[in-house]
Amino acid sequence: MPEIRQDPISGRWVIIAGNRAGRPEEFRRAPVSRVEISCPFCRGHEDQSPPSLAWYGPDRGSPERWEVRVVPNKYPALTGPAPGESHSPWHGESRHSVNDRDSAIEAALFKTLPGLGRHEVVIESPAHVASFSELSDDQAFWTFCAYRDRLLAHRGDPCAVSPMVFKNFGPEAGASLVHAHSQILFLPQGPQTLVEEIDGAERFRQRHGECVFCAMTAREAELGVRMVARNERFVAFCPFASQFAYETWILPRGHNSRFEEATDAELQDAALLLRQVIRRLETVLDQPAYNYFLHTTPFDRQANDHYHWHIEIFPRVSKAAGFEWSTGWRLNAVPPERAAEFLSRVY
Ligand SMILES: [Zn+2]
Ligand SMILES: [Zn+2]
Ligand SMILES: [Zn+2]
Repeated sequence: MPEIRQDPISGRWVIIAGNRAGRPEEFRRAPVSRVEISCPFCRGHEDQSPPSLAWYGPDRGSPERWEVRVVPNKYPALTGPAPGESHSPWHGESRHSVNDRDSAIEAALFKTLPGLGRHEVVIESPAHVASFSELSDDQAFWTFCAYRDRLLAHRGDPCAVSPMVFKNFGPEAGASLVHAHSQILFLPQGPQTLVEEIDGAERFRQRHGECVFCAMTAREAELGVRMVARNERFVAFCPFASQFAYETWILPRGHNSRFEEATDAELQDAALLLRQVIRRLETVLDQPAYNYFLHTTPFDRQANDHYHWHIEIFPRVSKAAGFEWSTGWRLNAVPPERAAEFLSRVY
């Protein structure tokens, strides 16, 4: 079973998942090609992945006639408990006794959590397309419906406290399969980056009496210098303190701390704006690899008026180097105003 380990210096948690090393694509550096000998995600190859957890299509679709479907990850980073094992992610936080000083030090050095979680894959089209930008309106919408429905399905599951929806497109962004897909990794606790964001947003609310994301969305829409695109319910802009070149965020205009509470109309707007932003990035940057991910309040926290769900998109055109790795600071050579100027002009 995988294990979650903590670095005793930084406090950072790492998933140690030895079971993933068997994945054949992982160590290969193949040139980007859209042709695969046999793609497990294409329609007709359903027997190459575990049975579907959910499917979408005209008239709700079926396990055979699907447009978007969700399957368990065949190589999960985290898994549910083995039969008969405790469901609590908190049992046995340390496997060492703390009776004396030595074992206390040892416990602090080698702290672990059981590698409990859930890992699912959303297959976004039955055809062998690659990027989110190539999906139809319906496929983009159903992909977002799948995100929402899987979050709702796991609400209350003790192994699935913090859902992380993310997409890797292109080998530089960590994708091992070409066929359009995204992943949902349910973690047993809120990860550091998310918790820092939520805490920072709470401090802003206490100090200024407003949700930082609502404040940002309203100001950016008004100023326009970093705006990329907008529709009725969402805005897309390059954030003021962008960490990476061409980083773009998508936020709902109305406050909501929980993605899974979004309405169909909101999911539609979010999906179509995301597709539009990716098309703009692909035009400006010539088909870059990219990641996008969804930040939303973990299930073990109350819905609130300080955190606001959003999508962050990172085209992989700049690389973290020694400075970034050593400091956690970023060096971004493209000001967001310039990036937004390019992105808003095309399309
Ligand atoms: Zn395929
Ligand atoms: Zn807000
Ligand atoms: Zn975020």
